Amino acid sequence: MAYLSLSGIDKVFGQVHVIKGLNLDIQKGEFVVFVGPSGCGKSTLLRLIAGLEQINGGTLKLDGRDITHLPSSKRDLAMVFQSYALYPHMSVFENMSFALKLAKADPSLIKEKVDRAAKILNLTQYLDRTPKELSGGQRQRVAIGRAIVRAPKVFLFDEPLSNLDAALRGQTRIEIAKLHRDLGATTIYVTHDQVEAMTLADRVVVLRDGVIEQVGTPLELYDRPANQFVAQFIGTPQ
Ligand code: ADP
Ligand code: MG
Repeated sequence: MAYLSLSGIDKVFGQVHVIKGLNLDIQKGEFVVFVGPSGCGKSTLLRLIAGLEQINGGTLKLDGRDITHLPSSKRDLAMVFQSYALYPHMSVFENMSFALKLAKADPSLIKEKVDRAAKILNLTQYLDRTPKELSGGQRQRVAIGRAIVRAPKVFLFDEPLSNLDAALRGQTRIEIAKLHRDLGATTIYVTHDQVEAMTLADRVVVLRDGVIEQVGTPLELYDRPANQFVAQFIGTPQ
């Protein structure tokens, strides 16, 4: 049985049908990448899964539980956005521990979890700094660290590297791949960058106008694109 299951998902904004009866099963531990041109519905789909948008139809199931109408805070998911959205007046440690503190976790447990996440992300020496004392890549790692300490069932990334310069993007991409190897966490990752998709994904989902054009491993998409759209999207560097 799938770990995360999307059945007949519909989303409408006003007159615009943005996600059209979408079906997708994701296995536990999988790294799934959503790709597709700007405006095809990638972020909307992620926000529906996260519970940040109201769903108009269909069912979402996670780990055997129907989460379709659960509030975001009860879904056990963590989302990392393209803008870091860190608290500017808090230290890295405070930023990373904030959710656990709200949940009234034990301080020694909080420290343990933050220290472990900081180690994975090479942030140990920056825990006392504030976000403005960090580089863009370090800030994005703090944002990822905030997600890690919550130990969510699923990580949701929406173009987490798109605000970074090319060198940092490559480096942070490697960190994300390593993170997935270390934690084995189920991950959904949105990007419009083919290189990111092809290097990170166990499976790639190609979206176009709110519909899935093809789902497959990077190799399957290269070797056997289902149609011209997939072939062009996968094959043409941007
Ligand atoms: P992507 O992330 O693939 O670029 P989005 O999911 O952001 O695409 O957007 C998909 C479509 O939904 C676009 O046509 C966009 O204009 C529309 N859309 C997204 N969010 C809203 C919103 N809050 N209100 C109205 N339309 C929206
Ligand atoms: Mg988007």
